[in-house]
Amino acid sequence: LHHQQRRWLSQEACTADGIRMEVAANIAHAVESQPAFSNGAESVGLFRTEMLYMDRLSAPSENELYHQFCQALDAAKGRSIIVRTMDIGGDKPVEYLNIPAENNPFLGYRAVRIYQEYAALFSTQLRAILRASAHGSLKIMIPMISSMEEILWIKEKLADAKQQLRDERIPFDESIPLGIMLEVPSVMFIIDQCCEEIDFFSIGSNDLTQYLLAVDRDNAKVTRHYNSLNPAFLRALDYAVQAVHRHGKWIGLCGELGAKGSVLPLLVGLGLDEISMGSPAILATKARLAQLDSAACRQLLQQAMACRTSLEVEHLLAQFRMSHE
Ligand code: PEP
Ligand code: MG
Repeated sequence: LHHQQRRWLSQEACTADGIRMEVAANIAHAVESQPAFSNGAESVGLFRTEMLYMDRLSAPSENELYHQFCQALDAAKGRSIIVRTMDIGGDKPVEYLNIPAENNPFLGYRAVRIYQEYAALFSTQLRAILRASAHGSLKIMIPMISSMEEILWIKEKLADAKQQLRDERIPFDESIPLGIMLEVPSVMFIIDQCCEEIDFFSIGSNDLTQYLLAVDRDNAKVTRHYNSLNPAFLRALDYAVQAVHRHGKWIGLCGELGAKGSVLPLLVGLGLDEISMGSPAILATKARLAQLDSAACRQLLQQAMACRTSLEVEHLLAQFRMSHE
């Protein structure tokens, strides 16, 4: 380990001028929690639970899920873990659910959209999360939200699950925070209303790029168009962060963009509360963050948003890097 980076194993991340930005880990299984915290993660910003459902013959039981979340919380030692409810269906097939193949899986039957039909599966997951919430700082996050109807439905189901546990005298965190992924563009235009109903947001830059630019994130033929440095995308991010912060709510980012060192100044410029990434990128990100000045980053973001092309933004970032790092 580089000597300069070692101190960031335990230190909180902040910019050179002392602006905090939490650096968190993305995990897909409880066993990844311990290594994430040993690698300097300040929290888990995204626990992708779909892996727990895939490549097996039947769904995990409530107890199996409960033990997963408890195990992750054990390693967290009081730090928080954002559990994202199952993002399955569509391009992430699960055999025992018998969801037919689709022409447009990314626009199809996936994530929150399948919860109504698979109500028992969803309620089992909610109960497991709630039960585990008695043992640490857990937060619930819902993927692929695109409308207020979905948020209201989720809140109803969460209230039902809480009532079941109360009736069964099973302890849980009554004020467990509820958040949504900001990854479908329509949510950008209902942020004010969302802030009345939920506690936090996390930008899924992988899907938000795909949906905002109408570019399949897995199609090699169009990768040229899949560019998160597109000025239109940067303006969308800035709009979202400002809107959420006007309501005093919390907004992080958990797509792959968070691990790109060259983009970090833009993420600082946005004023995000947290960025979450694969564990291997955490230390370098904290070290790089400490070199950055938040006012310079804000100015850089303004310039990037005024660019006409992604290429111009790339040049701007390269220039910034040469003069600031
Ligand atoms: C995203 O869309 O950016 C995200 C973090 O979720 P996933 O990559 O699992 O779709
Ligand atoms: Mg996504």
